[in-house]
Amino acid sequence: PPLYMQRYQFVIDYVKTYRPKKVIDFGCAGCCLLKKLKFHRNGIQLLVGVDINSVVLLKRMHTLAPLVSDYLQPSDGPLTIELYQGSVTEREPCTRGFDLLTCVELIEHLELAEVERFTEVVFGYMAPGAVIVTTPNAEFNPLLPGLRGFRNYDHKFEWTRAEFQTWANRVCQEYGYSVHFTGVGEAVGHWRDVGFCTQIAVFQRINQAVSNAELLEPSVYRLVYKVVYPSLS
Ligand code: SAM
Repeated sequence: PPLYMQRYQFVIDYVKTYRPKKVIDFGCAGCCLLKKLKFHRNGIQLLVGVDINSVVLLKRMHTLAPLVSDYLQPSDGPLTIELYQGSVTEREPCTRGFDLLTCVELIEHLELAEVERFTEVVFGYMAPGAVIVTTPNAEFNPLLPGLRGFRNYDHKFEWTRAEFQTWANRVCQEYGYSVHFTGVGEAVGHWRDVGFCTQIAVFQRINQAVSNAELLEPSVYRLVYKVVYPSLS
């Protein structure tokens, strides 16, 4: 399967194993990952997508609407899906207390100064139970035919494994998380040691999770879409 599918599958597999109830996806763009998570719910009750670009949200949000089959065969558990226009660098009260926060191919679109802010807001303020961050591995780039510079014109940086791990280890020290590193898209043969095409850090919160029992109204973000799925309970 193509690389982006492998990244989504990585998150789906994580959800299957750890069964987070509240999941928030930053830089959700065309809502592809959210749509997949809706089909592989594994007990998810609240699924939130956030993107700074409302145009991409508006274009694709209807793909998250319930299908006729969702009404004919309501599921056991409740599911609410919400989409917000907002930035991962803003402190938004309704983003606190999630079990899982995902940033799939997002951080490399931030200026390095914004990455500092991102780190503080995500790990210090939102303080989710777990965080999955994926980003290009610069060491893999020589294997990509015809590539000059970054993989995308909008990338502000692409990190080597050492750079990514230095950042991630500092996050752990400052905010009380543990991390493990993995990836998708493996090089073969004598290129093996360049690492994965996409590098992934999976953070787990060490201290007790921030509790956010009641759902708060957004104060900074703008709600773009909300749907409550039919359920038996
Ligand atoms: N996660 C999706 C995927 O893997 O298919 C899309 C990744 S796309 C390369 C990056 C997305 O991040 C874009 O939709 C962009 O609008 C969004 N983005 C960029 N800066 C952001 C920010 N500060 N806060 C939230 N989203 C942001």
